[in-house]
Amino acid sequence: MKAEIKEYCIRCGICVGLYPQLFAHNFEKDCIDVKYDEIPAELEETAKNAARDCAVTAIYLKK
Ligand code: SF4
Repeated sequence: MKAEIKEYCIRCGICVGLYPQLFAHNFEKDCIDVKYDEIPAELEETAKNAARDCAVTAIYLKK
């Protein structure tokens, strides 16, 4: 599974605050970085929760 942050992310920081194991705020580029190119199996459920919790559904998961 891969996670992608869509450009319409509003940088609210919720995903970074709730799931720091997966996301980090990139202040230099003013965007959210996904810490993994390929999400580890043990974090897939966490990624799904993050996608659900994003207020603007900017976290896109793909197989
Ligand atoms: S929760 Fe969604 S809108 Fe907020 S920073 Fe994360 S990806 Fe962007």
